[in-house]
Amino acid sequence: MEGCVFCRIINRQTAAKIVYEDDSVLAFEDLNPQAPTHLLVVPRKHIASLKEVGAEDEPLLGHLFTVATQLARQRQIDAKGFRTVINNGTWAGQSVFHLHVHVLGGRVFHWPPG
Ligand code: AMP
Ligand code: ZN
Repeated sequence: MEGCVFCRIINRQTAAKIVYEDDSVLAFEDLNPQAPTHLLVVPRKHIASLKEVGAEDEPLLGHLFTVATQLARQRQIDAKGFRTVINNGTWAGQSVFHLHVHVLGGRVFHWPPG
């Protein structure tokens, strides 16, 4: 998808600190971290948000969360607790319209979110 920053990262046209990749997903460090650990897990397939997900994407969604949990374990943020977030749409705070799971950890998070 032209003009999509995460597609550019996936295609190696924009630099990022990639920490994991496989056939269907990629994970990298967030440019503007909101916690000591802040990773983004993204599908290689350009899907703008959960609103655009189809039935054929169900295994991919599961995989995004499996990888997110694997990375949380690897970063040792799983024992105390970590947060996974998907923002969908502008009111929810989505700024990059390529589906991504935020994986945040290493500090206490509050609820409800701001
Ligand atoms: P959201 O606001 O949920 O759409 O999240 C987008 C996230 O992407 C933000 O946390 C940004 O800091 C992050 N971000 C934007 N551009 C880049 C980039 N080039 N490399 C890494 N993270 C980025
Ligand atoms: Zn994209």
